[in-house]
Amino acid sequence: MTTDAPEHMSAEEFRRAGYAVIDWLAEYYERVDSLPVFPQVSPGEIRACLPDAPPAEGEPFTTILADLDHIVLPGLMHWQSPNFFGYFPANTSPPSILGDLASSGLGVQGMLWQTSPACTEIETQVLDWLIDMLDLPEKFKSTTQRGGGVIQDTASSATLCALLAAREHVSEITARERGLDPDLRAYCSEETHSSMEKAMSIAGFGREKLRKIATDNQLAMDSARLTEAIVNDRAQGLKPFFVCATVGTTSSLAIDPVEAIGAICARHELWLHVDAAMAGTAALCPEFRHINAGLALADSYCFNPHKWMLTNFDCDCFYVADREPLIRALTVMPEYLRNEATQGGEAIDYRDWQIPLGRRFRAMKLWFVIRSYGVRGLQAFVRHHIGLAEEFEGWIEADPAFELVIPRSLNLVCFRKRGHDDDNRALLRRLNESGRIFLTHTVIDGRYCLRFCIGQTYTERSHVERAWQLIREI
Ligand code: PLP
Repeated sequence: MTTDAPEHMSAEEFRRAGYAVIDWLAEYYERVDSLPVFPQVSPGEIRACLPDAPPAEGEPFTTILADLDHIVLPGLMHWQSPNFFGYFPANTSPPSILGDLASSGLGVQGMLWQTSPACTEIETQVLDWLIDMLDLPEKFKSTTQRGGGVIQDTASSATLCALLAAREHVSEITARERGLDPDLRAYCSEETHSSMEKAMSIAGFGREKLRKIATDNQLAMDSARLTEAIVNDRAQGLKPFFVCATVGTTSSLAIDPVEAIGAICARHELWLHVDAAMAGTAALCPEFRHINAGLALADSYCFNPHKWMLTNFDCDCFYVADREPLIRALTVMPEYLRNEATQGGEAIDYRDWQIPLGRRFRAMKLWFVIRSYGVRGLQAFVRHHIGLAEEFEGWIEADPAFELVIPRSLNLVCFRKRGHDDDNRALLRRLNESGRIFLTHTVIDGRYCLRFCIGQTYTERSHVERAWQLIREI
């Protein structure tokens, strides 16, 4: 028995609804500055606005859209507010939104080159462009035929993929087929993002096999301690194989000494992965390229345009100097995916460079962003934020009621009100409850402090000035 297909929007209805969504978003951006940054709802409040059951019959699009105002907005943290200074930014921008929309509209599934050559080839080319834009080592370029870049959803996935490639590299075929060697050990610093620990458990090593190396007074990995740990482990018959260094730690944007760490990895034959999730974007500007020091020694590298490069979540750029162990670790070829392009070996099948099989056309938004802003526009964006952070740092230094907890790193200032931790906790709570700005905290050297990260797409000097005034008033 056949039944009628459901009714779809006509082309004209789709056009009208689409324009209405863009209008709604344009108005949102015009007013987001005045919305409370922090959601003022209690757990369960948003869910309670939804009916118990889904609608049996379709609803008019205008009714659905109206609920963005009534139900969705009150339950949002406004990450796109220019008054958002918390965590790390999660940028978006008009070209990125439109690129993502175009990608959704085309709805391609780019798991193999064959399933949409444009999806793969634009990604490969844009990732190669970024190597020149950020002055990353040439060995990461796909044109070397050995290295190459791929878009992952997040830095967490990039770290996991790097770990799996390193496992494959060190154990040849045995890990994949026979399971893990329990003697393998990995290293990171005490300040490394928790995704490293998570990757260790997901990859089956177990968190206990991760050594967390102490940091120096700048909260960067102490490379002498790293050598010590590797040598000690070797002496006990263990097998060090992987180090994760960070360029811009989550707590304080500390930069690990990648050059020294790379030399240690080279000497002891360990895989070096460098996680530059947010800070990596700063290398767009030649004057901040000191953050790339030592990358020539890295086996893999990642940074997130979805943090600070105007490209909406999700978009992490992950590079390997040698794609072979990565592909070996992640490839499987069931009969139904066999095709000539893959067999011919000339095409890249990105499904072999990531955990899932399927993949969206994520490169579209990144491509739109780079083309719309141009390299110079993106450089201006980074310089603007770092300049504002420098100014903010100066205001803190000039005010005896406040202190810097650690020197500013790029666009992050960690500061506190002189006095007790509890005063600072109360200050943060009151600032965020005001709804006028949003900040987060960290603990450095046992002292509670506030993090002020300037990276939102629309943040101007006036927003930073207002934030500082509010901090002083409160
Ligand atoms: N690495 C670092 C240094 C980070 O700061 C973060 C998040 O802030 C991550 C990794 C995780 O990022 P993602 O959400 O892309 O996994």
